[in-house]
Parts: sequence; C-alpha cells; structure tokens
Amino acid sequence: MPAVTVEDTTTLARVPLPAPRTVRRRVRSVTTAPSGFEGEGFPVRRAFAGVDLRALDPFLHMDQMGEVEYAPGEPKGTSWHPHRGFETVTYLLDGTFEHADSHGGGGTISDGDTQWMTAGGGVLHIERPPEALVLSGGLFHGLQLWVNLPAAQKWVEPRYQDLRARQSVLLTSPDGGALLRVIAGDVGGHRGPGSTYTPMAMVHATVSPGASLDLPWRPDFNALVYVLSGSGSVGVDGAPVHTGQLAVLGPGDTVTVHGTRAGDRHAEARTPDLDVVVLGGLPIREPIAMYGPFVMNTRQEVLDAMTDASAGRLGTIPAARVAHGDVHGLSE
Ligand code: FE
Repeated sequence: MPAVTVEDTTTLARVPLPAPRTVRRRVRSVTTAPSGFEGEGFPVRRAFAGVDLRALDPFLHMDQMGEVEYAPGEPKGTSWHPHRGFETVTYLLDGTFEHADSHGGGGTISDGDTQWMTAGGGVLHIERPPEALVLSGGLFHGLQLWVNLPAAQKWVEPRYQDLRARQSVLLTSPDGGALLRVIAGDVGGHRGPGSTYTPMAMVHATVSPGASLDLPWRPDFNALVYVLSGSGSVGVDGAPVHTGQLAVLGPGDTVTVHGTRAGDRHAEARTPDLDVVVLGGLPIREPIAMYGPFVMNTRQEVLDAMTDASAGRLGTIPAARVAHGDVHGLSE
C-alpha cells in the first residue's frame, strides 16, 4: 500500500498531545463490509452497509475498490453514467484510474492522488483504468466516498478537483508511530487540500504495530474509522477491528486508534501496519431520497433526476470522447 509514504516520520509536523480534559470518543458500532462487484465487475467492499444514514451523515456510501491484482486484460471500469445532488471522492492507493465528465473535468490519478467531483445539479462521467493498465494488468486499490450536499447546494455547478498525492498534508503522532495524510479538513491546525461544500475531514493513517494515535477531531463532526488493512483497536474502549470493518464513534474530542502489536495472535502477517481512513463531517440533518446515482431530498426530486438524465439534461458525452469510440467504456 504505497499511497504516500515517508522514510522517517520524525521529520514531519506532529499532531498535539491530547489536553488533560480531552474526551476520547467511544465506539458505538463495528460492522463488517460485505463484498460485491461494481459497474462492469471490479471487486468492492461496501464499507457503510448496514449502518444507519443518520450515523453516517454527511456521508452516504463508501466502496473500497480492491485491493486486487489484475491479470492482463482484466481491469474494469464503469460506462458513462449520471449523478446529481452530492460529491464523489475517489482516493487511489495503488494503480491508476482515469476520469472524464461532461462538464470538462477529468484526469488520471495514481498512487495517493484524489479526484473530488461535485455532481451538483448534474453531470455525466466515466471512471476506468487507462488502456495501458488494461493491457498490462497490475495492482489496483482505491476508495470511493459519496459526500452529501445540503438542499441549498444540490444545484451548484459541477466542479472537479484534482488533488495530487504530494499535496496531502503529512503529519505524525507525538511518538512518530503513525503517518497521517490529511486529504481534506483541518486536523490539529493542519489543513488538507480538498475543498468541500459540506464541512468535513478525511485522513488516511498508517499506524505502526503497537503504536497508538489520538487524532484531534472537531467535536461537532461525526467520526468513522474504516480499516483498509491490518488489525488493531479503536476508541477509548479499545474495540477490536480488522480489514474491511467500520467503527462508528460517539461524541468527543479525539479519535483513538491502536495498531496490533507484532506477534499478537490477531496480527495480520501480510500487513503488519494498520491502515485506516478516518472520516468526519458536520451532519446535514435533512431528509434523504437516494436512488442509484441520485441523492436528493424528496422522492419527486429523484424521479425528476431520472427524467432529466434520460432527456440528456444532466450533460452529454463530450464529442471528442465519442470520436475516440469510448462511448461504452473500455470494458465492453
Ligand atoms: Fe460515478
């Protein structure tokens, strides 16, 4: 899992030690993500399955894509499809992914890069591995997170942010035992590059075996910890977690994460480090009407989105793309 790594964490800025009266958050639930297949067939873990949307708010959905070692000809993507009413955030840990949309956004991301697409009032897009990777095969591992937009911002202009791995703000814990990559939001006074409509924070943390992390976390944000790989414990109560599990935490000031010690019977031999994504945001607390690629406030708005999509009002496939013959996506 490369994403962004550093040789020596002691050269990085450190998050502060918790103040004396800090309230460490407790774990409310731990759920295990079921595995499935997305789009044309790449393997995913549905990170938020079975969790009440009110606990996730402002987040809606998250897929861990891979980790998978593709054989030549095997890598898969999606075909062109619409979205309205929310933002998609794609964070790539290994491999390469291409993205293009009907609003002129798009680009290629690889190891540690992030694409942040605000669908707003409506956009059409395609997400897939580049042709060279399809031919060669190779390692692929990423995350796609859906962030809701409040009613007042569901109709904003689509926007595309290309966040490079080197723009992530790198931090460490007071003893240097954890590497933190701040992708969005403010953590202990250090702000990540992602610009969000809904106030939120997203951090990818690698915790060394036996190390502990007390991540300062805005008390008005919710807190979710998803395990990408490895094993450890979360929260002041030390709830055990492993690969593919999501911990929802209660109120407090910090998010505590502890990596399983090497040699412990719960240690995962293949991945001694504990890799987690920590997410939090300001809950929107509005009704959610969600169907397929549309996230609105009422059922009628979702029906309108479906009508608008089939009438081409969410955008059309750019002419240059049609000329390249990639209307149906590479995987077909
Ligand atoms: Fe999509």
